[in-house]
Amino acid sequence: MNRETACEVYSRLLEHYPIVGERRHFIEFANPYEALIQTILSAQTTDRAVNAIHDDLFSRYPTPEALARAEPDEVEPIIHSIGFHHAKARYIVGTARKLVADFGGEVPRTMEELQTLPGVGRKTANIVLSHAFDINVGIAVDTHVRRVSKRIGFTNSTNPDIIERDLVALFPQKVWRDINYLLIRHGRAVCTAQNPKHDVCVVADLCRYYRVLQDQTELSEK
Ligand code: SF4
Repeated sequence: MNRETACEVYSRLLEHYPIVGERRHFIEFANPYEALIQTILSAQTTDRAVNAIHDDLFSRYPTPEALARAEPDEVEPIIHSIGFHHAKARYIVGTARKLVADFGGEVPRTMEELQTLPGVGRKTANIVLSHAFDINVGIAVDTHVRRVSKRIGFTNSTNPDIIERDLVALFPQKVWRDINYLLIRHGRAVCTAQNPKHDVCVVADLCRYYRVLQDQTELSEK
């Protein structure tokens, strides 16, 4: 897909899913520490599940220092409902300890430093940088971004690193944060994993997947 068509997709999605104020995130957080911990916890679960434990978790561990003093098995019961709680408890306690030991209790603001924290890969680092600091050095590729990007034709890959590379090449940096948000909204509402709603999709005429479907239908009718 060329940049002109990609930008037309962006414009239509933006019109369809208006961005109100500065909010482009789905997890609840009050500061960069909470954004980091919540994003680590959000792997392999829903934002709703993570938001449901927010108050309990951060009322007990309101700072990196407080969480660094905890043992993972103390944290596990609080995050039990989100799944993978053994590993995630180790990740967030380990991350809090490293924040205190290596970063003065502050969340670092670079991709490289963030990725030294337990449980933090490129996707998590992109989300934290974008939502906590409004620093956009890339585009977070989650399951929705991956699926919708491939279907529309932004990329030919299913590899998150290659998809991110393709997306940043297609869109100007000032909309990278918006593109992540809009593709997630579209993936949840319309371009769902099962039974995507092509008939109500505002970008159907620009979508590669839909075009192929139509071609196959026409061929089968001949
Ligand atoms: S036309 Fe279908 S596959 Fe393409 S973006 Fe819309 S819902 Fe997704």
